[in-house]
Amino acid sequence: MLNDFDGKVVLVTGAGSGIGREAALAFAARGALVFGADTNEQGLAETRALVEKAGGKVQVARVDVSSEEDVAIFLSRIAADAGRLDAAFNNAGITGGAHRIEDYPTDDFDRVLCTNLRSVFLCMKHELPLLKRSGGGVICNTASVAALTGPGGMCAYAASKHGIHGLTRVAAMENAAHGIRVNALAPGWTETPMVVTASAQNPSFAAQTTNAIPAKRGGKPTEIAEAAVWLCSGAASYVFGQMLIVDGGMTIGGFAY
Ligand code: NAD
Repeated sequence: MLNDFDGKVVLVTGAGSGIGREAALAFAARGALVFGADTNEQGLAETRALVEKAGGKVQVARVDVSSEEDVAIFLSRIAADAGRLDAAFNNAGITGGAHRIEDYPTDDFDRVLCTNLRSVFLCMKHELPLLKRSGGGVICNTASVAALTGPGGMCAYAASKHGIHGLTRVAAMENAAHGIRVNALAPGWTETPMVVTASAQNPSFAAQTTNAIPAKRGGKPTEIAEAAVWLCSGAASYVFGQMLIVDGGMTIGGFAY
């Protein structure tokens, strides 16, 4: 087992479920002290129990990533308790409902943009000073294949994820000279609670989607978490401003032969 995160402090948002939980487990397994944030306190407690059972170090906090006050308090707590930050996985997100643009409730559009995009801006805004004070570090932002495609019915989600791609590139450009690498991760169809719920609501859409994936299956949360850990590790030391697509080939295009 690698211990390349020994002595490092890693922040994970959305740590109460799915990809974020698996990332918390994977970073901790490699030696990191993980600070997990989520609005779901029950989920956070479960994640903490799983990490500690595996012998890892974790602290958790109820944080609404769309609130600047919450994010600022969380980063102050990390600075006070750990004195540094080495990596941040800004991963919390929601899908929002499915409606055509002309029917999309404006309040829902704002809520998805706040939760998915404003949050990544706020997290980076408050993480960057602590990363700089720590002598450099890494940020990984969770986008989606919806940062590249136009999934009908999901205008808010796609807009938020395209926005994360842009924010990531700007942050990478602004911070490369400060020893900070910033990248994004674009998962495809990943079998987390988010997708399991959506699939149960629309089984025929779920079947069509799985069939359209060259790998013919959804991804496992661990397969996405491992990619996030790699992007945040020294093994990715020359990767700047990229969006790594981990989607079972969903966005290859072309056709099978
Ligand atoms: P999930 O629902 O299992 O986990 C998301 C977590 O984010 C939840 O614990 C939720 O409570 C938390 N969260 C939501 N709003 C929050 C807020 N305002 N403040 C703090 N925490 C909040 O979903 P997941 O599939 O693990 O999703 C993680 C990320 O991956 C999301 O950004 C999602 O858009 C992205 N993603 C997922 C898939 C997929 O197929 N599952 C595909 C592409 C991208």
